[in-house]
Amino acid sequence: MFDAIGQCSICKKEYTSMHVEYRPGTIVYICPDCLRKTKDYFIWLCMGCGRSYFRPKKEVLSRLEKYGVENASLLLEGLQLIQGIDICIACDPAGIVEYVNGNRSMFAEACAK
Ligand SMILES: [Zn+2]
Ligand SMILES: [Zn+2]
Repeated sequence: MFDAIGQCSICKKEYTSMHVEYRPGTIVYICPDCLRKTKDYFIWLCMGCGRSYFRPKKEVLSRLEKYGVENASLLLEGLQLIQGIDICIACDPAGIVEYVNGNRSMFAEACAK
């Protein structure tokens, strides 16, 4: 269960009742301001330290295309706008390398850049 009103996990300023379930059982609050930004950005939210990272969709798309991912734009259409990551470059600079190698997740990789 979740409280009806929570602090926005992205900007940590606004209190809002809007939320997304970014992972089964884990609720992330997102205020209207931050939600509006997801039109142009993907948001990575670090579960380790709570920092959030904005990645322009265009940048992510060109990165994917550079890696030779086919139908990259279609792929992005289906993605969650908010991605949770366990650690980030800020809270664990050494661990992120292992994390990326272990997950081969393009999102963690993008976060590490
Ligand atoms: Zn916010
Ligand atoms: Zn972090």
